[in-house]
Amino acid sequence: LSDGGSKKTSRVRVAVRLRPYMGKEDEKGEGSCVKGLDSQNLEIINWRNATETVKYHFDAFHGEQTTQQEVFLSSVKPVLPHILNGQNASVFAYGPTGAGKTHTMLGSSEQAGVIPRAVREVFDLVRARDEEEGWDYSIGMSYLEIYNEKVLDLLSPNSHDLPIREDKDKNILIPGLTHTTISSFSDFDKHFVPASLNRTTASTKLNQRSSRSHAILLIKVVRTRRALPNRQQIGKLYLVDLAGSEDNRRTGNQGIRLKESGAINLSLFTLSKVVDSLNSGTAIRVPYRDSKLTRLLQDSLGGSAHSVMITNIAPEYKYYFDTFTALNFAAKSKLI
Ligand code: ADP
Ligand code: MG
Repeated sequence: LSDGGSKKTSRVRVAVRLRPYMGKEDEKGEGSCVKGLDSQNLEIINWRNATETVKYHFDAFHGEQTTQQEVFLSSVKPVLPHILNGQNASVFAYGPTGAGKTHTMLGSSEQAGVIPRAVREVFDLVRARDEEEGWDYSIGMSYLEIYNEKVLDLLSPNSHDLPIREDKDKNILIPGLTHTTISSFSDFDKHFVPASLNRTTASTKLNQRSSRSHAILLIKVVRTRRALPNRQQIGKLYLVDLAGSEDNRRTGNQGIRLKESGAINLSLFTLSKVVDSLNSGTAIRVPYRDSKLTRLLQDSLGGSAHSVMITNIAPEYKYYFDTFTALNFAAKSKLI
C-alpha cells in the first residue's frame, strides 16, 4: 500500500536510560554526575561550575531502577503492531561504550532485553490475529553488521561487503543477505545466539570490534491475502545496537586506525543529522545517503515508519564528556 505520495515524515521518539552506578566507592571523584528528576527530565553537573546543573527534557527518561520490562513496555511494545500491518519500524540504542546499549538491546538470560522481548511479542501478536481476517503471516530474520562502512552478513560465515539497493517503490534491499524464515521464538534463538556469539568472540580478538560496529537485527513480517495470493504486505523491524558514541581519537583508543574511527564517526554523525532533520522538520533534504547505516535504515526511519532512539548513559564522572555529548545529540534529536 502506498501512502499516496504524501511527504509526511514521522518524528523519532527519544528516550534516555541511565544505568546504575558501577564505580568503586574509593575511586576519586566518586558519585554520580547525572540525576533523574522525573519520567521525562534529568540534570547533569555543569563541569565549568559543579554547583550548577544543566537540565534536559526527553520523550522518556528511564532512571537507574528501571527494569528491562519497563523499557520494553514504554519504548518498544507500542510500535510492534504496525509491523503486522506492513509498516516499518526501527529501535536503536545509542551511547558510549559501557553505558548499557547491549544490556538494553540484548540483556542476559536473567534480564532479557528488547530483542528477545520484541521477537516473542511479534510471534504472540501474529498468533492472536483473527483467522477470519483472511491474512496469512510469515516471519523471517536477517542479522548483519556495519563495520568500517562495510555491510557484513552475521548469518553467513565469511560474508564480504554487501551492496545496499533501492527498488522502484523505494524499499531498501540487500541482495545476497541471508534471510531465514523462523516459526517460533526458539527457532529465532537457534539462529541468533550462535551469530551473536561469533560476533562476541571476534570482538575480543579484534580489539573491541563490537564497540566499533553497528549490529543490526531485521525481523520481517510478510502477510498475504488468502483470497488474493499476490497481494502482499511487508513490515520490517530493525533492532540496532550502535557502535560506541565516544570519540576514539579523543579517548586515545590504541590500535584504532584513523580511517576506522572516521568511518564510525561518519555513520553516527550522519545518523544524528538524519534524526535531527526528521525531528526539526526543517530539512530540505534528509541526508540518508551519506552513510551505510542511514542508507540501510532509510525506509524504516522517518517517512511512515515508527522510530525510537534509546540513548544509554552512565552516571560515573569518568563518562562525563561522553554523557554530555550523547545527551546533547539526543536533546537536539527531540522536537522542542
Ligand atoms: P555497552 O553495550 O553500551 O558498551 P553494556 O550493555 O555492555 O554497555 O553495559 C556495560 C556493563 O554495565 C555490563 O556489565 C552490563 O551488564 C551493565 N549494565 C548496563 N546497563 C545496566 C542496567 N540497566 N542494569 C544493570 N546492569 C547494567
Ligand atoms: Mg555493547
